Amino acid sequence: MTRADIDDIPTQNPCAQCGAPIARPDWIEPGEGRVSYLWSCHACGYRFEAIAIYHEAAIEHPPLAA
Ligand SMILES: [Zn+2]
Repeated sequence: MTRADIDDIPTQNPCAQCGAPIARPDWIEPGEGRVSYLWSCHACGYRFEAIAIYHEAAIEHPPLAA
């Protein structure tokens, strides 16, 4: 097992609810072929998860829009 290399952390992700940019994710959880990011908006308090998929063949469960 190799740890996922997460040196490509997304920043300034717009809040899914109010659109305010969020500097960095609260939590990063590497998975197989994908990385889950938990974002927490400081402007409105909304929290949401975004999943980055790195394996093109692994798109069996597309992320659901909240
Ligand atoms: Zn917000």
